Amino acid sequence: MDPSTDAPLETPCRLDPGAWFPEGNGGRRYVTARKWCQRCPVTTACLQAALDMESGLGRKERHGMWGGTTPRERAQMEGVEG
Ligand code: SF4
Repeated sequence: MDPSTDAPLETPCRLDPGAWFPEGNGGRRYVTARKWCQRCPVTTACLQAALDMESGLGRKERHGMWGGTTPRERAQMEGVEG
C-alpha cells in the first residue's frame, strides 16, 4: 500500500502527497501530515502496511509519513538504530 496512490480516495494524503513525502529529513516537516493522519480512517492499516513493507530496512531507507509516523519513528518501533 502506497498512501499516495493506494489509499482510499477520501484519505488526506491523496490530496497533497508532497506533504507526506517532504524533501530532506526532520520530523518538523511532517507536522501537517501527522495531524491529518491522526484523523484518517485507515491509520492503523496504513501503519501496518508500512511496517510490513519496510521490515528489515535501515532508517535512511524508509521514506514518508505512513499511519502518522515518520521514518525514524517506524525504525525505532523495529529497534533500528540511527
Ligand atoms: S494514515 Fe496518513 S498516510 Fe496513511 S492513508 Fe491515512 S492520511 Fe494517508
